Amino acid sequence: MADSKKVISVLQKIGEKIEEQKEYLTELDQPIGDSDHGINLARGFQEVDKKLPVLNDQDMGTILKTVGMTLVSTVGGASGPLYGSAFMKMGMALAGKTEIGTDDFLNSMDAAVEAVKQRGKSAVEEATMLDAMVPALAAMKKAAAEGMDGKAVLQAGCQAAWAGAEHTKELVATKGRASYVGERGLGHQDPGATSFSFMLDVVKECL
Ligand code: ADP
Ligand code: MG
Repeated sequence: MADSKKVISVLQKIGEKIEEQKEYLTELDQPIGDSDHGINLARGFQEVDKKLPVLNDQDMGTILKTVGMTLVSTVGGASGPLYGSAFMKMGMALAGKTEIGTDDFLNSMDAAVEAVKQRGKSAVEEATMLDAMVPALAAMKKAAAEGMDGKAVLQAGCQAAWAGAEHTKELVATKGRASYVGERGLGHQDPGATSFSFMLDVVKECL
């Protein structure tokens, strides 16, 4: 599926995608938050981008842990520590590896979901990034169990992620800033569920 160099290029492309979608992600954060989700993530990934070039010869653990720590330390909002922990835990799951397959990727996604649940004290159906992450992971595991190849697995994951992001419009947020607006948040798509879906799209496009 991918070696370290490939993972670095995927991470660079995630940064480009976030930059491209910065305004949209920030607009989604306006009615239910404080209009900074795109700005927050773009700042974080700009810093990540500076660190990537020297990591070419490193294992996935080192690369992803560096990404996670950079996001934690440079992103102001809630999404920094959450995505930061997710990337750090993915790194821990892939420590020592310079080559990964679909199973490794799914194991690391498991670790990412657990990290967000723990750090955010959150679960599905609370209108957060988890509402894209959890169904995406379930769909990818199902596709892999059915013997689909990496590309088809990611396709299934992306479809489920976007459906999950769409579903957040029907949920009243009970975690994060969006919980302050309560039912007024109905009809609005969660920015974090959306940014995750964009990230997974990049992984699929790069494969
Ligand atoms: P902030 O809310 O601090 O301004 P951002 O705007 O960057 O931070 O990120 C908001 C996103 O973070 C939300 O759309 C949601 O997906 C995610 N989020 C916030 N709190 C939690 C939590 N406790 N668990 C999971 N995700 C969360
Ligand atoms: Mg915000």
